[in-house]
Amino acid sequence: MEIWDTHVHLDEMTNLELAVELAVRHNVTHWVLVATGPEAYRHQSQLLTSLSHYPLRYFRSIGLHPEYNYSEHALMETEQIVEHESIAAIGEIGLPTYRILSRQQFNRNWELVYIQLEWAKSKNLPVIIHAVHESCEPMLRILEEFSDLKRVVFHWLKAPKNIVQEIVKRRYYVGITPDIVSRSRDRELFSLLPPEAVVVETDSPWPHNGHKPSSPAEIAELIATLNHIAPESCDWLGQTTHNARQLFGNIPSRQEQTPIK
Ligand SMILES: [Zn+2]
Repeated sequence: MEIWDTHVHLDEMTNLELAVELAVRHNVTHWVLVATGPEAYRHQSQLLTSLSHYPLRYFRSIGLHPEYNYSEHALMETEQIVEHESIAAIGEIGLPTYRILSRQQFNRNWELVYIQLEWAKSKNLPVIIHAVHESCEPMLRILEEFSDLKRVVFHWLKAPKNIVQEIVKRRYYVGITPDIVSRSRDRELFSLLPPEAVVVETDSPWPHNGHKPSSPAEIAELIATLNHIAPESCDWLGQTTHNARQLFGNIPSRQEQTPIK
């Protein structure tokens, strides 16, 4: 059995060994590790050396997170990592919601999004998007310029109904978190999604349901909740695993399948 947590900030987690043991016990075996920049990426690499004896599979993602500021070299360093390391996805990248940007910061972030989307396009990598509430619609407009990018996930989405519907229509994926266990806002959003759009994530160590810091083991309860609220739709374990594989597994694009003349 394989269960995915599609969004984990390994470098921000405390009590990592315990989190890993709990996840193994709950069969949460596949983790997408999201690095918010080169420093986070290097920190994660260090931590992974001490976790190599656990039966887990990791998929590495890197991107300059829109809610943070970065030094001048961060972009270049991130590009080096994308070029030379085994990277499974670009992200999380996108547009900020929780901080006010100066005009200069706004322009800089806008430019960074385009550059990083270009990397995803040229390397045929999936993209993890951070763009919630009022940032979601402008992000969709940017993505219109990248119609080649098919594997896109709106991580921990919060958005108005019409925007969620547009995301579904474009066949992007949506990350659902353990918040769904207790929050009606998340349940309403979930009710708008077809099963093939849903992936599950904890965004660990971000706390959910008023709890202490979260850990990937919570995916087990999340899936049980989906089976409880929408039992007629599908088997949510099989479906979300399938979706995560489609999103992050290395499926060759049509371009790659056609020999270059
Ligand atoms: Zn995150």
